[in-house]
Amino acid sequence: MEKLHFERPIITKIKAGVPSKFGIQSKVEPITHIDGVPVKDLIEKFGSPVYIISESTIRKTYNEAHRAFSSRYPKVQFAWSYKTNYLNAVCNVFHQEGSWAEVVSGFEYDKAIANGVPGNNIIFNGPGKTIADLTKAINNDSLIHIDHFEELYQIIELSKKLTNKPKVAIRVNIDTGIYPRWDRFGFNYENGEAWDALNRIMLSKNLDLVGLHTHIGTYMMSSDPYGVAASKLANLIVGLKRKHHRSIKYIDMGGGFASKNTLRGAYYPGSDTAPSFDDFAEAITSALMKSEIKPDNLPLLILETGRALVDDAGYILGTVIANKRMANGRRATIIDVGLNLLFTSFWYEHDIRPAKPVSEQSEDSTIYGPLCMNIDIIRSSIRFPLLKKGDNFVIRRIGAYNNTQWLQFITLRPNVVMIDTKKNLHIIKKSETLETINMLEQTPDHLKKFEL
Ligand SMILES: *Cc1c(COP(=O)(O)O)cnc(C)c1O
Repeated sequence: MEKLHFERPIITKIKAGVPSKFGIQSKVEPITHIDGVPVKDLIEKFGSPVYIISESTIRKTYNEAHRAFSSRYPKVQFAWSYKTNYLNAVCNVFHQEGSWAEVVSGFEYDKAIANGVPGNNIIFNGPGKTIADLTKAINNDSLIHIDHFEELYQIIELSKKLTNKPKVAIRVNIDTGIYPRWDRFGFNYENGEAWDALNRIMLSKNLDLVGLHTHIGTYMMSSDPYGVAASKLANLIVGLKRKHHRSIKYIDMGGGFASKNTLRGAYYPGSDTAPSFDDFAEAITSALMKSEIKPDNLPLLILETGRALVDDAGYILGTVIANKRMANGRRATIIDVGLNLLFTSFWYEHDIRPAKPVSEQSEDSTIYGPLCMNIDIIRSSIRFPLLKKGDNFVIRRIGAYNNTQWLQFITLRPNVVMIDTKKNLHIIKKSETLETINMLEQTPDHLKKFEL
């Protein structure tokens, strides 16, 4: 029998009759397997830390979201938000499920093309498209979502020289009752700017107005604003029909659905508060169907959902480096996953679990990453079991934004491994090495030598 580990006894003040907000403290359940694969094996094989992506969770979540919309509305199309996670393997799971690509830079645009997405299935958003980006998008018949008047005039200029008629939509920012307002992108609805832009597009003759777009925020914790936004966009569609006899092909409601992660400082866990896909679908589709748009004129409904589709599919596994006592007696646990690998710990209280069964004992702890930087805190206050040096842990729901906003800072970025639907393991991005980092650097001749 394996010898039991010693655990130092701790004395804590009893707060009689004051259970925490979730009742009496309960045991932290370990996560020992991901999709049936032992966490221990994953770390032995691919190192620590390591990112794990579950292909079956992506497919399951996508199908849940798609069903929520397609069961309520006749024409639905998802477009994968590249900036949420643009590892090619991840994008291609979404493309295999039928998603188009939604990109916000020339780099992301090229990535979608390289993945094999047809130009006319790429939605090009963002305020910073260059002339070269726009030219490419026009030549490929991509859907250009115009952000501001400068861009509109630029596209009109380009359209005079190019043979393809640019396919455009405008991004509309809308007061949906959510504050602070997201009005830095696109044309404002309430002050008439959006209507002005639409009229200019209709008058220019050279542009093909195909859609209307909005993206009202991110991590939206209520579905109501989507209903408000959809009905205001519907008003624009009705206005275009009335004045210009123009039918719009699609209405794009953007992304922003909350994932099940818990925001820092939130009272309840995100898994209890995030609206379901059904809630969001109900708000959007009912607003469109009760609008003045005639039933045979209902546009294709596009969704650019990012984080809510991929957060649950991502994990990061790691190892405890050390435990120590702070000057005030508080327990601190240092782990090998830092902010550089888990950018989202800036705004989420990530769910960290031991990778094997542990005792009932836990202590209010701070969890630090390994970086030599004061800001490297993964959880500032968490009731955490007494993991020891060398013990493994699992942080779940990290599939959104961490593989794009990660930083090559102080340490190298580790392997990203996908577990496919048959439990086969694939490295989908190799860990960095000194060589891959140095590959892009160039040292001038006079700086190549030194003596100390
Ligand atoms: C970031 C972004 C999305 C995805 O947002 P999520 O909050 O991840 O769902 C969709 N559309 C646009 C225009 C975006 O900028």
